[in-house]
Parts: sequence; structure tokens; C-alpha cells
Amino acid sequence: HIYLDNAATTPMAPEVIQTMTDQMVNDFGNASSTHYFGRQAHTVLDNSRHILAQSIQAKDNEIILTSGATESNNTAILKTAMQRAGEGKRLITTAIEHHSVLKPMAYLETQGFDVVYLPVNEQGVINLADLKAALTPDTILVSIMMGNNEVGSHMPIHEIGQLVHESNAWFHTDATQTYGLLDIDVQADQIDFLSVSAHKINGPKQIGFLYVNDAIHLPSLLLGGEQEKKRRAGTENIPAVAGFAKAVELLTPAVKAEHQAQYTAFKQQVLETLKANQVAFEVNGGLGADRVQHVLNLWIKGVSTYVLQMNLDLAGFAVSGGSACTAGDLEPSHVLIAMYGKESPRVAESVRISFGKDTTAAQLDAFCATLTKIVEKNLAKQHAKD
Ligand code: PMP
Repeated sequence: HIYLDNAATTPMAPEVIQTMTDQMVNDFGNASSTHYFGRQAHTVLDNSRHILAQSIQAKDNEIILTSGATESNNTAILKTAMQRAGEGKRLITTAIEHHSVLKPMAYLETQGFDVVYLPVNEQGVINLADLKAALTPDTILVSIMMGNNEVGSHMPIHEIGQLVHESNAWFHTDATQTYGLLDIDVQADQIDFLSVSAHKINGPKQIGFLYVNDAIHLPSLLLGGEQEKKRRAGTENIPAVAGFAKAVELLTPAVKAEHQAQYTAFKQQVLETLKANQVAFEVNGGLGADRVQHVLNLWIKGVSTYVLQMNLDLAGFAVSGGSACTAGDLEPSHVLIAMYGKESPRVAESVRISFGKDTTAAQLDAFCATLTKIVEKNLAKQHAKD
């Protein structure tokens, strides 16, 4: 089986597994305990936090460890709304966010908040003029993702940070699909909150962080112990935190640059091969140097997502028919709908492949050959019926 679904999750790096195993065997202490075992655990926590903070140009005390981007997104959105309800009731987001942003927003609408969902163009990018027009004095939060998980669009974060900071609002960005691939600088981009999950960068699942600008104090979403300076209750998962930091350490600037070049080349390879094989397709969101290069979403004209995904799986290729979260129930993608409208055939005839550090050119050649056969067979079947 060949794994081409790295935007859903990635396998853990061997070094990460080793680090976590060592932690589990040697350091089981509770980081809040004041004895030797607790102090040992706390040292690992501090050292790991430092690595994470450095990775986005933040200070150590600005990193709150969470169970992942879902919790980070929920915390930033729900706790900002609770804290700032007296100042304003408006929040701004986009139509193509992950559900861990859209669902807290929908919940807030039931609680008397007013949420603006900015539209996106066919590249999956917002128009800055729309954001500017939506930013009223009573806007308390703007939540716009850095990179999109389904189509790989990359939002103009620097310009968004500038616009938001001319207003009263705080700026949250979900960086789950760009962290570890692109350089992130929360200072330069004027980001107040940033969400990340470790399992997208060959780290463990159920660990991530929320960066919170230290000028802001957000109370904990979970109520209980006083961990994370009272900002996130619950005993810390030290092996996972150490594994996360190891995954980040492995992503040196040279490795990141190599991945970026590799994924860009992989994209070209797939597109050229499918073209040569005369497959009728288009790239959802288009191409462009500023896109998130590990994601490639293809509209395969005339063949349904269901047929594509099923047949690819049978042939041993793991791809996604949308985002992992919606693939199970085959809900049409809200991202493709926002980009092309719900009548567009793209909504029902697209697949996403996403590259990771273990992806090879040979795997992609095999993928293209199989996809071509599936497409030819299904289009021939349809013609036979016509
Ligand atoms: N945001 C984005 C953009 C994502 O791709 C994902 C994972 N699919 C999440 C948030 C949620 O991450 P997790 O499931 O690790 O909490």
C-alpha cells in the first residue's frame, strides 16, 4: 500500500518514536510534582517548549501545549468570544476553514455573536478588500487559516496581520498545514494566536500547541488543574511533547527547503504524467509558487470521487476524497463548494493527494499509471451505456 494522504496525517519519524519510547521508559513523572521525578518531567517540558517557541519566533511563555489544532482553534475562538463579548460581538473567518474553526463559529452564532464568512476566489484565497470592509470597530477576532488542507491555498497572512492590527480585533491563524513546511514568524506577521498539530509533521497525534501573544491572557477552555500557567488544565503528556519537539528539530531549514523543492517537483511530475496519459483533469485551486506544495487536489473530469477513491484504495493507493474528516461520510467538500459553487462537477469528481517526507517519484509514477487505468475504464463504461 502506498500512502498519499499526508495532509490527513503522517507516519511518525523513527527518531520521534525513539524519543517517545525513551521518555515512556525513563521519565513517567508528573510535571507538576515537586520531587525528583516531577522535576525531570518538567525539564523535558521546558526544553521542548523552547524548541517549539523558537520554531515560530515566539517566547517560551507564549506556547500553550494542547491536544492538537482542534483544541487550539476551539480555545482561541471560544475564549476570545467569552472574554471580549463586552467589547463587540463580531468575528470574521472564511468559508474554507477546517471544521474545528467553523463549528465553534457556528456555536457562537447561536449565542448571539455575528460571524462573517469571507468568500474565496477559485484559487481558494480571500480578497483583502472584503476583509477590510468586514472589519468593523466591534470585531473582536479574525480567524483565517494560513494554508488550506484540501486545496493547498495559502492566504496572504502578512497583509491580513497588518489589516487586523489597524483594528481592535485579535488575529488567529490555523497553521496546521503550513507549520514545518514554511517559515513562520508570528512577530513579523502580527499574529496573536496560532494553532498547530504535531501529527502533520511526523510527530505524534493528540499533541499540538496554541501560540498566544503574551500581551493577551486567554483563560483555559478546560477547567481543572493549573498546568500551562493556568491556561490549559490537565496533566501534560511528556512523551508526546518530547516527540513533538523532536519532530520539529528534525525540520532544519535545509530539510524544509529540500521538502519544498521535492513536493514542487512531485506536483509537476504528476501533472505532466497525467497530461501525457491524456487524462482529462484540472488542478483545483490552480498552480502557483505561493501554494502549499504538499497538497494537490485534482478534478478528474467525468469520474466520481467515490469511484476514484474506492478503486485507488483497491489498487493500494491511499488518497482523500476531500478532507479526512468528511471523507468517511462523503459529504461534498465545503471548500470546493466555496471555490466553485455547489453545481460545479468538481465538487463530485475530485481527489486530493498529499506528499510527505517518505513519498517517492516511483510511487507517483505507479499512482499515475493506476489512476489513468481507472479513469479510462470508467469513462469507457459510461460511453458503453450512452
Ligand atoms: N486545521 C487544519 C487545517 C487541519 O488540516 C486539521 C487536521 N485535518 C485540523 C485543523 C485539526 O487537527 P487535529 O485533528 O490534529 O486536531
